[in-house]
Amino acid sequence: MTTAKVLLETGSTAEALPALGQGTWYMGEGRAPRRQEIAALQRGLERGLRLIDSAEMYGDGAAERLVGEAIQGRRDQAFVVSKVYPWNAGRDSAIAACEASLERLGTDYLDLYLLHWPGSIPLDETLEAFDRLVAAGKIRRFGVSNFDVDDMQTLARLPGGGDCAVNQVLYHLASRGIEVALRPWQRRQRMPLMAYCPLAQAGAVGADPLADPQLGELAADLGLTPAQLLLAWAIRPVEGQHEVIAIPKAASPEHVDDNARALEVTLDEATLARLDALYPAPQRKVPLDIV
Ligand code: NDP
Repeated sequence: MTTAKVLLETGSTAEALPALGQGTWYMGEGRAPRRQEIAALQRGLERGLRLIDSAEMYGDGAAERLVGEAIQGRRDQAFVVSKVYPWNAGRDSAIAACEASLERLGTDYLDLYLLHWPGSIPLDETLEAFDRLVAAGKIRRFGVSNFDVDDMQTLARLPGGGDCAVNQVLYHLASRGIEVALRPWQRRQRMPLMAYCPLAQAGAVGADPLADPQLGELAADLGLTPAQLLLAWAIRPVEGQHEVIAIPKAASPEHVDDNARALEVTLDEATLARLDALYPAPQRKVPLDIV
C-alpha cells in the first residue's frame, strides 16, 4: 500500500505531508463530547493525519484550545496550521494574533500560518508580519486561504509573496470551479492546495454527494464508503503529482478511521470518468466558492 503524500516546498526547505489532514471547525464548542473530539484528533495523528487545521475564528479560540489539549505531549507528531482574521493581519496585529493562537494551542510555533481570506489591510503589511514571525521561529511557513487566481497573482508579485506555501480553498466533487484556472496556476507554481469542505459540508448549493445514492452505489462497488470515495477523489494525483491536502473534519475516532483509509485508495480511470459524468467540472472560470 502506498500512502498519498504532497510535497510542501518553500525556499530551500521541502517536506512531504500525507495528503489527508484534519479540520477542526465547530470542534471544542460542545457539539460532540470534548473527550470524543480529542480522541478523534489523536486517532488521526496515530493514523498519519498529521496536519491539524484550525483558526482563531473557530469557536472564538475554542477549537485551538481543543487542539492544544489533543497535541499535548505529542507536538512533534503534529503539523499545526492556524489562520489569522483579515482584520488582524496588520504589521503588528498579526504578531499579536499569532501569539494568542500559540497560547491557546499550548505550543511555541505553528507549522503553517494562513491569512484566512483577503481583506482590506494591504498584503505587504501581512507579508512583513509573516516574515517577522518566521524570523522569530513562531511560524515555520505562511500561506493564504480563499484566494482566487487574481489574488494569487497579486500576492506573487509582492516582495516575499513567492514564499507562500499553500492556498486553502473550498474543493469537493460537487464544487470543481478551481480546476479551470486556480488549480493549474498553483500546479505551475508547485504550490500545494489545501481542500476545505472535502466532504461537501458546504459549497455547491443543493448538492450533497455524501448522501447521493448513485455515488453511494459506486463507492459500494469499489468496497469504499461514500466519504472514502469523496476524499480519494479530492486527493487524486493530476499529471502524476499529488498536489492536494484535504482536511475533513471528523468528531469521532470512527469517522477518522473511515477517512484515513482514503490515503491508500487509488481511483482508476473508469471510476474517475464515472465521477466526472455524475459531477462534471465547469467548462469556464466561475467565481471561487467560499463558505
Ligand atoms: P467537511 O466537508 O470536512 O465535512 C464535515 C462533516 O462531515 C461533519 O459533519 C462530519 O461529521 C462529517 N464526516 C466526517 N467524516 C465522515 C465520514 N467518514 N462519514 C460521514 N460523515 C463524515 O466540512 P468542514 O466545513 O468541516 O471542512 C473541513 C475543514 O476545513 C474545517 O473543519 C476547517 O478546518 C476547514 N475550513 C476552512 C475554511 C476556510 O475558509 N479556510 C472554511 C471551511 C472549513 P462529524 O463531525 O460528526 O464527524
